[in-house]
Amino acid sequence: MADFDLIVIGAGSGGVRAARIAAGHGAKVAIAEEHKVGGTCVIRGCVPKKLLVYGAHFAEDLEDAAMFGWDVPTKRFDWPVLRDNVLAEVSRLEAAYTETLTNHQVEIFHERAEMTGPTEVTLASGKKLSAGKILIATGARPLMPEVEGIEHAISSNEVFHLERMPKRIVIAGGGYIANEFAGIFHQFGAHVTLVNRSDTLLRGYDQQLVDRLLQISIRKGIDYKFNTTFERIERRDDGSLKLVMKGSDDIEADEVLFAVGRRPNVEALGCAAAGVEVGDKGEIKVDDDNRTSAASVFAVGDVTDRVQLTPVAIREGQAFADTFFGNIPCKVDYGCIPSAVFSHPPLAGVGMTEGQARNKLGSIKVYTSDFRAMKNVLAGRNERSLYKLVVDATSDEIVGIHMIGPDAPEILQAAAIAVKARLKKADFAATVALHPTMAEELVLMR
Ligand code: NDP
Repeated sequence: MADFDLIVIGAGSGGVRAARIAAGHGAKVAIAEEHKVGGTCVIRGCVPKKLLVYGAHFAEDLEDAAMFGWDVPTKRFDWPVLRDNVLAEVSRLEAAYTETLTNHQVEIFHERAEMTGPTEVTLASGKKLSAGKILIATGARPLMPEVEGIEHAISSNEVFHLERMPKRIVIAGGGYIANEFAGIFHQFGAHVTLVNRSDTLLRGYDQQLVDRLLQISIRKGIDYKFNTTFERIERRDDGSLKLVMKGSDDIEADEVLFAVGRRPNVEALGCAAAGVEVGDKGEIKVDDDNRTSAASVFAVGDVTDRVQLTPVAIREGQAFADTFFGNIPCKVDYGCIPSAVFSHPPLAGVGMTEGQARNKLGSIKVYTSDFRAMKNVLAGRNERSLYKLVVDATSDEIVGIHMIGPDAPEILQAAAIAVKARLKKADFAATVALHPTMAEELVLMR
């Protein structure tokens, strides 16, 4: 008899969901976590980031307030207040996640775990646990490239704990994290320079939307350096940084944040001992049942490097638990995953971009609405939104929706249902507009 039916390694989004659901199906479950319960999303990712995005947005809202008749005599941003409130909320959520696990009789081991066989885990304390199945849900961590002086740089792990708001920050990368934090730091008053190795930002997003974000951000004062890489990072005696670049002049900064992708956490996990195959990028290889090359070992979430998004990890954890402990076989559908970049303004998309649809379908129709949100008009804010519907010209099905503008992610979540349900452009046109909203543009495009 094994000690547990299931041992989960890693208490992030995927691991917690799998543990809770498997336990709900009657399995005896343990979970091992060396850091905090909640994982990247709750502790040092989506959740604290979104709270900073809210905090950052006040900069523009307070500025715009005057045109709406509000006299805001003094504006002063206090970073430690926001930082500490965000960290307190993270602690509250960590406790809530822990409670959920405990309420489901999941035994939590707050220590590092390593597989010492296909059905055996050894904890840092030396304790050995056996299980019918092991689930690897160890997530990923920021990639810090080999650059001289990289120890002076921070990653998205440290960014939530900064002692003070930097006056000048350089952000390396052109993906989600780089663009989100460029907006956040800019709104908090820092001078932001975004440095990218290529001239492509947010690869995979619709090019027209990315161009719009770039145009708006440049007008706001964010600097961009494309086709530029880091040669060396030097810390001066006064604490400031000198960044020696290839492709541009040196840059003076107070902080440098690297956001150049994330790598699966597989080190010292015991993959070889368990017979678990690891791919070229360090990802754990799994089949569509989340099973690794070892029959008793499964993996979900970022460690598998399929789609590095929290809701996907949660779905994978749920599917694993339902399939193997609830007798409800199910697989994750990776089609039509909506995603968003919480930049300023945010952008969001689902389905095929215009370029992807053109390549795949050949004959498409693209509808666009390029407008200034009512609120921005009155505020005198010259920032235009852009919505796009990508339609299969043969079937009239909407195969992609892409938007940049205020609340785009909130609107897109609902619109994504239509793409998933393969609704047609005619269904959108037949829907009465809800006036006055920004979302009504979706049913008014002609
Ligand atoms: P991304 O994968 O989004 O972007 C990585 C960026 O770094 C790209 O611009 C890439 O350039 C560049 N890059 C990659 N390797 C190097 C290198 N060695 N040196 C210099 N530049 C490099 O990574 P992030 O770190 O921003 O985010 C990691 C993941 O976390 C995302 O993929 C996403 O899945 C998830 N995430 C999701 C969020 C959301 O849903 N809103 C928010 C934050 C993170 P190139 O394009 O040329 O390869």
